[in-house]
Amino acid sequence: MDRNLFRASNTPMHLARTIAEVRAAVAAARAAGRPIALVPTMGALHAGHVSLMRAAARDDAFVVVSIFVNPTQFGPDEDFARYPRDEAADLACCRAAGAHAVFLPRVTEMYLTGAATAVHVGGLTDALCGPHRPGHFDGVATVVAKLLIIVAPDRAYFGEKDFQQLAVVRRMTADLNLPVEVVGCPTVREPDGLAMSSRNAYLTAEQRRRAAGIHAALAAVRTGVARGERDTAALLAAAKAVLLREVRPDKIDYLSAVDAETLRDVARVARPTLFATALHLGPTRLIDSVVVVPDASDA
Ligand code: AMP
Repeated sequence: MDRNLFRASNTPMHLARTIAEVRAAVAAARAAGRPIALVPTMGALHAGHVSLMRAAARDDAFVVVSIFVNPTQFGPDEDFARYPRDEAADLACCRAAGAHAVFLPRVTEMYLTGAATAVHVGGLTDALCGPHRPGHFDGVATVVAKLLIIVAPDRAYFGEKDFQQLAVVRRMTADLNLPVEVVGCPTVREPDGLAMSSRNAYLTAEQRRRAAGIHAALAAVRTGVARGERDTAALLAAAKAVLLREVRPDKIDYLSAVDAETLRDVARVARPTLFATALHLGPTRLIDSVVVVPDASDA
């Protein structure tokens, strides 16, 4: 982790392990007239998470970071048990980034015995990661809804790195009339273009080198569009060639071009279009995407 990204801060930081504790910290900040900003995470924090905390701090907001590896969004064969967890490093990161409170609940604090309620967002979850990770977005929507109800922030911050998750959260908050502004933040990348992710820690040195080709493949899409190509099949073929040559993934779950709003497949780049991929390098599943906006002159 690049320590230079973090500014030193003497701000005292609340550490809340229970819902009552985080609510008390938030109530005190609200009584002092401060807006509340929430940054939900699963920990193993990196500069991508820090960028959300920095964005959240605007307007003198009281920034709450939640760190919770949410079991309900992992499939039975996925990496819940081995997901990287480092509480001390995460707290140091939050403190250095200037967070005001960290909510670190146990699973039993978040899910009552016998919990039987889930939030399902239809439509948007039929595409991309949805079919490959059954139940994943129900777990995400449910835990984000719970965090929004617990913390009741004015704004909540999410990364465009998980573009479909951001779309699902926007839909869910609109549909449930949750009084929160959902703010999307740009993807933070390593110098070679790889999107920062807690799961990058799983990669061997050799896989890590190959993984940079994911960004190269998506950059090839951008270049193609800039040269005037609008046919998504041609753009995807060019991107796939880069993936196969540079990344040599063990499996590609998808490499798709979809409308950036509806997430439905599109044949031509006529509106903002999301080019997204999910692939496996050994046991590690990585996702990345870019949004390509055609020139206004194309319309
Ligand atoms: P996670 O801890 O992976 O669940 O991510 C927590 C939040 O950080 C989500 O809103 C992610 O989209 C966001 N995030 C993760 N990686 C990045 C990144 N490289 N750039 C920007 N945001 C990110």
